[in-house]
Amino acid sequence: MPLASYAMDPGRGRGRRFPEPPHAYRNDYARDRDRIIHSRAFRRLEAKTQVFTTRFSDHFRNRLTHTLEVAQIARTVAGALGLNTDLAEALALVHDIGHPPFGHAGERKLDELLRPHGARFDHNLHALHIVEQFEQRYLDFPGLNLTFEVREGIVKHSRDYSAAEYPELAEYALGQKPPLEAQLIDWVDEIAYNTADLDDGFEAHLVDLDAIREQVPLFRETYNEVEAAHREGRPKLKFNEALKRVLDRLATDLIENTRRRIAEAGGKTVEDIRAIPERLAAFSEEIRKANAELKRFLYAQLYDNSAIVEDRDRSVACLEELFQYYLGRPEKMPPFYYEQTHESPRHQIVCDYIAGMTDHFLLRQHHELIGGASRALAGA
Ligand code: MG
Repeated sequence: MPLASYAMDPGRGRGRRFPEPPHAYRNDYARDRDRIIHSRAFRRLEAKTQVFTTRFSDHFRNRLTHTLEVAQIARTVAGALGLNTDLAEALALVHDIGHPPFGHAGERKLDELLRPHGARFDHNLHALHIVEQFEQRYLDFPGLNLTFEVREGIVKHSRDYSAAEYPELAEYALGQKPPLEAQLIDWVDEIAYNTADLDDGFEAHLVDLDAIREQVPLFRETYNEVEAAHREGRPKLKFNEALKRVLDRLATDLIENTRRRIAEAGGKTVEDIRAIPERLAAFSEEIRKANAELKRFLYAQLYDNSAIVEDRDRSVACLEELFQYYLGRPEKMPPFYYEQTHESPRHQIVCDYIAGMTDHFLLRQHHELIGGASRALAGA
């Protein structure tokens, strides 16, 4: 399929911070995608929680497998819209790279710990620091030297930042919307985790089929279709088929509704898309409501389930204790981080160090440095 006129053309991007000659057979976005996959922060996603820690099961999603599912859906949606699939894939693969240990609870805790120091934690901005500074792989530049459009997508994929509040992000033209490849990511992320969390929650016996059918109308519809056609099928396979159809409906709606909105807004070029004051990638009103019902169900039945909450609270308490520990004893961090505390605020460096940890590494450090209290906390 040829690229749409509003797709991001790698030949017309704003380039890299440190100019590099073009590659013989990969365009700049394909190259960025490959750099992201080869980064250390990407590999660490394997040992970071999505919803379930590995204490529950080894075959539930972690942040790496979630990321791969986001990339798969992003490629499909971008391709159907005639967008640049290499750029969409690179943005999907990098979208969670700034996540600290223990998912959103870890992110909230780090933010809470930074506030008394007049600072904040934001996983998008942390991701930007990772790809600009923390990854040390190349002789000629710090970070991954990604193209402007990938860095811009990291900043803008999920929300708008105000130029007054974030002057350091001025180069990303905060008054403009990002290209459609970046606008898709947040929606695709939702499609991936809402369906996957339902799947893992069902597998973990934390949500039951009757409750899902009763409270999630979109699932009820697809399940009834499956029931009518496969009355004798195994229940788990009927569940899988119904869930697969939910995912397909969400993705199809995102494609069709976004296409309709682009046409209505008269967006013909990337410059048009950037200038249109609202984001054009979106679900239709009907599917937005259906998706919100699914999300509400997941909060009530899964994310706030006591088994998940206890595990999460224990882990986050370890994160907090380790933060305070390093704040008092920065020399206990590796030299790379300790040395930075001579030039930058200590709380910031401690935060950067902890945010980069995997769940396992954090619990191990906590156990080794803080000792007995950690055994009780980690339930080990
Ligand atoms: Mg995500």
